[in-house]
Amino acid sequence: MIFPNAMLGMLGGGQLGRMFTLAAHSMGYRVTVLDPDPLSPAGAVADVHLKAAYQDREALQLLADSCAAVTTEFENVPAESLRWLANHCIVRPAGDAVAVAQDRIREKAFFRACGLGVAPYAVIETAADLAQADAALLPGILKRARFGYDGKGQASVASMGEASAAFVTFGSDACVLERRIDLACEVSVVVARGAQGATCVFPVAENQHRHGILDVCIVPARIAPALATEAERAAMLIATRLNYVGVLAVEFFVTGGGELLVNEIAPRPHNSGHYTIDACATSQYEQQARALCGLALGDTLLLTPVVMVNLLGEAWAGGVPDWRMLFDNPRAKLHLYGKHEARPGRKMGHYTVLGGTVEAALAEALALRAALCPAFALAAA
Ligand code: ATP
Ligand code: MG
Repeated sequence: MIFPNAMLGMLGGGQLGRMFTLAAHSMGYRVTVLDPDPLSPAGAVADVHLKAAYQDREALQLLADSCAAVTTEFENVPAESLRWLANHCIVRPAGDAVAVAQDRIREKAFFRACGLGVAPYAVIETAADLAQADAALLPGILKRARFGYDGKGQASVASMGEASAAFVTFGSDACVLERRIDLACEVSVVVARGAQGATCVFPVAENQHRHGILDVCIVPARIAPALATEAERAAMLIATRLNYVGVLAVEFFVTGGGELLVNEIAPRPHNSGHYTIDACATSQYEQQARALCGLALGDTLLLTPVVMVNLLGEAWAGGVPDWRMLFDNPRAKLHLYGKHEARPGRKMGHYTVLGGTVEAALAEALALRAALCPAFALAAA
């Protein structure tokens, strides 16, 4: 076990790293963040901020020498850096597990090997693969196999001609062509697996997206209990089969026919798990610190229904939102990430609203958004 006052290393300095750092600090740990961005949200609160590239051998050596254990918040962190670090200090999750999540082709093959359902798809590595692809995959979505996030590296395609054009736009990099699913809703499960192999899930979250980016997250998800149990089991199976240590998020589609399909995994805490900070006995970030340090996992009990709303750069279009409206509501909790520039699509912060029921929390959360960012709420209608 790694005890408080030890230095923990974090690869990546985004908001997930920032919230990890805040949780680790409150437990008495110190944190070193590696991120090249001098203005990174996590770097701003860390004890030490190494401003270097993720492959920088000198910076990695410093991390290895000064940290008892290293983790990541950034899914595209080079798996090679994790593997190198693992020869020098504790690294959780392992580079091999992260590598699966970094490549949609490997990821989908892995889900299938676990016996889990996925959306019908074809691997597209060359133009010839597209020519041979099943027309039943249309209308579909062409997704780059690597380096996608928030819907980037994806194109909606209605014909093979459109798919070919999109493939060229993506530099003929390896892709998957995925059938567009008729969605009843989307859900996700954040699961933690401890160093001794115990797994523990947070309550299932229901996720609403806008333009491929998570918008609103509703907990508990309004799905049948049997489906929620199926999602939790799938998440624990994935963590176990990956021999994963740390916090992992699994995104699912629920089809119109009520079937559960695995969409993708993220080898880190997740945007859809932010609600755990305000509404669970243990947050996903405390859980990440616990798993990293070899401690027992914390209780994931949901203390109250909760709704989270993402605050993207668009919310700043009419100037800084009037935070008084949020602070006037005793059940609303604001979290800002300390980003200096509000660009469209950029995740600037989020808020949660705690409620007696999920419907009450949702109504209040949406009313707050309409008041806070009228232009943004209008665009959604
Ligand atoms: P993120 O990293 O933010 O989760 P991403 O870029 O990795 O996003 P996906 O999760 O694959 O991308 O897709 C983003 C969203 O686009 C999904 O949550 C879903 O709303 C929609 N989407 C993706 N694939 C499909 C599909 N096959 N059928 C229907 N909707 C889809
Ligand atoms: Mg996704």
